[in-house]
Amino acid sequence: MTLPAAKQEHREGASLRTPMTLEEKVGKTLAELGATEAKGVETLFAEVRAAMEAERQDLLSRGAASEAERDKLAKALRDRWLARKNGLLSLIDERWLKQAPKELKPTVGKRFNELRQAVACLEFEELVRDVPVRRDAAVPVIGVPLGAGAGPVTVSTTQALADLTLPGYQRPLGSIHPITRVQREIEEIFLNLGFSIETGPEVESVYYNFDALNIPESHPARDDWDTLYVDAQTVLRTHTSPVQIRAMEKHGAPLYIIIPGKCYRHDNPDSTHSPMFHQIEGLAIDTDITFADLKGTLDFFAKKFFGEKVRTSFHPSFFPFTEPSGEVAISCVFCDGQGCRICKESGWIEVMGCGMVHPEVLRHGGLDPDRYSGWAFGLGIERYAMMKYDINDIQLFYQSDVRFLEQF
Ligand SMILES: [Zn+2]
Repeated sequence: MTLPAAKQEHREGASLRTPMTLEEKVGKTLAELGATEAKGVETLFAEVRAAMEAERQDLLSRGAASEAERDKLAKALRDRWLARKNGLLSLIDERWLKQAPKELKPTVGKRFNELRQAVACLEFEELVRDVPVRRDAAVPVIGVPLGAGAGPVTVSTTQALADLTLPGYQRPLGSIHPITRVQREIEEIFLNLGFSIETGPEVESVYYNFDALNIPESHPARDDWDTLYVDAQTVLRTHTSPVQIRAMEKHGAPLYIIIPGKCYRHDNPDSTHSPMFHQIEGLAIDTDITFADLKGTLDFFAKKFFGEKVRTSFHPSFFPFTEPSGEVAISCVFCDGQGCRICKESGWIEVMGCGMVHPEVLRHGGLDPDRYSGWAFGLGIERYAMMKYDINDIQLFYQSDVRFLEQF
């Protein structure tokens, strides 16, 4: 009759000698431990070394809940092994090495030196560097019995030898976030056209966010519902456009820049809205810039980003900071312009706003509108990423869910 596995194990376990603790072993001489030959000595040192490694790994994989606790645990483990008085290494020196019979001295000396070198990884500084602090630790590590310093560790041959067939610690690799990926791709296209990248503050003055961009106080974008105010004169920028003014003031003209960055609006999160989102803005200012330059550049950009087959279409629109203003649509990349659910059967998808820079905006940037003209565009990076990767919920970008992020 075959015994159930658990019972068998129990029976085999019971037949073993009661294992001696590491403390008990280092309290005896080699002769008392029955190690009268080199082979026995080697086995003993191998056991000690495996126990040391296991205790260190135990601490490393448990980690600590705070710096203070990590320091405490590291000190306890260090002292257990390396304390000058009664540290395990000292005891081994005292009992095993110094009291070894003459003929075993060379072997014991050699193994002891190796052990001393190996145990150096338990120095306080080494441990503090290696033991992770888990700030999110839900289970307090204090109170969990830990081999190090918390009591004697049992060393039996079956426990002490590390199982080298166990898999190693796997740390999941991160990848580039889809928003960053799309942002870099768009930047790359414009960098190749000779544009440079300009950035600005996310906490912005009302002047740069609105006034300088020809957005009068009566404009609905200044309504509390859309704008997050820090105080009466300060907002979280609602678009990347304030950097247009800042760049004109800083560099003058000619100016060819793109402006990537985070923007904020008082929007409730849903599948297409988020109170924080990313824009890229483009601005070209020179002495003879026309709407034809704008159309040519954006058509080139759309073909680079969405594919050579894509066609662009410009429709009149209104923005306070451009005159004339337009919306750019591309032929639907999902149905090739035939009409589908995503393009609402129209064959076209709107992808950005654009226009010729308003003379008032040039003036606020310190440029003479009689001498200079320019165009600008603005697009939402999330929307591009959603189209490119066929993502139907904008919230997925901000949830840090590895199952989503590892797909890119
Ligand atoms: Zn379509």
